[in-house]
Amino acid sequence: MKINIIGGGPAGLYFAILMKKAGASHQVKIYERNGPDDTFGWGVVFSGKTLANLRAADEVSHAEITKQFEAWDNVDVVHRDAKISIHGNSFSGVARLQLLKILQRRAEQLDVEIEFHSEIHDVEALRSDCDLLLAADGVNSTVRARYAEQFRPELDVRANRYIWYGTHQLFHGLTLTFRENSAGVFAAHSYKFSPTTSTFIVECDPETWAKAGFEQMGSEETLAYVGDVFAQDLNGHKLLSNNSKWINFLLVKNRKWFFENVVLIGDALHTAHFSIGSGTKLAMEDAIALADSFQEYLDVRDALVHFEKTRRPVIEDYQAAAFESMRWFENAAQYMNLSPIELAYVLMTRSGRVSYEDLMKRDPDFIRRYDRRDNF
Ligand SMILES: Cc1cc2nc3c(=O)[nH]c(=O)nc-3n(C[C@H](O)[C@H](O)[C@H](O)COP(=O)(O)OP(=O)(O)OC[C@H]3O[C@@H](n4cnc5c(N)ncnc54)[C@H](O)[C@@H]3O)c2cc1C
Repeated sequence: MKINIIGGGPAGLYFAILMKKAGASHQVKIYERNGPDDTFGWGVVFSGKTLANLRAADEVSHAEITKQFEAWDNVDVVHRDAKISIHGNSFSGVARLQLLKILQRRAEQLDVEIEFHSEIHDVEALRSDCDLLLAADGVNSTVRARYAEQFRPELDVRANRYIWYGTHQLFHGLTLTFRENSAGVFAAHSYKFSPTTSTFIVECDPETWAKAGFEQMGSEETLAYVGDVFAQDLNGHKLLSNNSKWINFLLVKNRKWFFENVVLIGDALHTAHFSIGSGTKLAMEDAIALADSFQEYLDVRDALVHFEKTRRPVIEDYQAAAFESMRWFENAAQYMNLSPIELAYVLMTRSGRVSYEDLMKRDPDFIRRYDRRDNF
């Protein structure tokens, strides 16, 4: 089978790896507009369950990825200067750049052709020259836009603003920090992903953003302002920018996932708010589900029908949970009157997927403190 892939992010690379692993005779080529070392973003997170899926799909890359990991089992909630730790939440973080390098090496080892610095504009030409065109071209997918009539995307630009920074302050666990100033409430989502660096994502509602005056600020001033809001948490460390800009979260859904020989995966197909886990996990698990469909069906159409049929319910369930979580953060200001232990409890149960009983199993001590409404 001849497979053309647009986009050498986690989704495109991992699908290429899995298809070559399954059949060395497949001809697989990735077109990537960036170079092999250009990337944005800081760390990405995986749950213990996702790691098990990655191991089952490809032990070689799994072994490389886990060598680079920073692991933790706690969510920390910081509110009014008190830190509440909730244990029993197993996650790991790795640098996005490291992950891409591992996947690039593995793909090349399996004879996947990767053409870097190759931006695709003429999607139709590439589509007519292969059995399968994989659109793994990210949240602003060119392929999705080109065939919008067929995919019928639903794009929802959310009102909150967020910005991805890094920092050398190490957050040992997924840390959710709330700070207020005269402009409003700011939430930071942070976790370490290497022995020296953490991801630090800051989110605020549009009123807070406008009142803080970010529209008039350049990147240095923005960095200084945000650093100031979280000065106590950063412990003297600076925020690090990687061309970081305020963005609005784009919620992506598609009514149709494929047509003829073109299929969307990863961020091109769907997004889930970053507060519930990373888009990288979903992108790689899409690649696994699609490659599995080609194991079951030789015919492209049959495989794509199977992919959409089996994967759509999983994604819809995940997006529903992520939607609740996103709404919680959009309305974070209304929870600031809660005590730290109460805030930690409503945060842990915000998506509707984690119950009192689940938390009792994960961290009975936390639930005992919550029942007593202890602040510390
Ligand atoms: C600014 C920003 C920062 C982020 N940082 C993080 C982070 O730190 N941690 C995290 O977990 N998630 C992060 N994310 C989300 C994460 O990137 C995605 O959820 C995940 O990477 C999805 O994987 P993907 O392969 O579907 O898409 P992507 O990783 O976006 O990969 C798509 C690839 O397609 C390429 N491409 C796009 N169009 C074309 C074209 N026409 N021709 C050729 N190539 C093309 C792009 O260059 C890119 O390499 C970030 C997202 C953004 C927008």
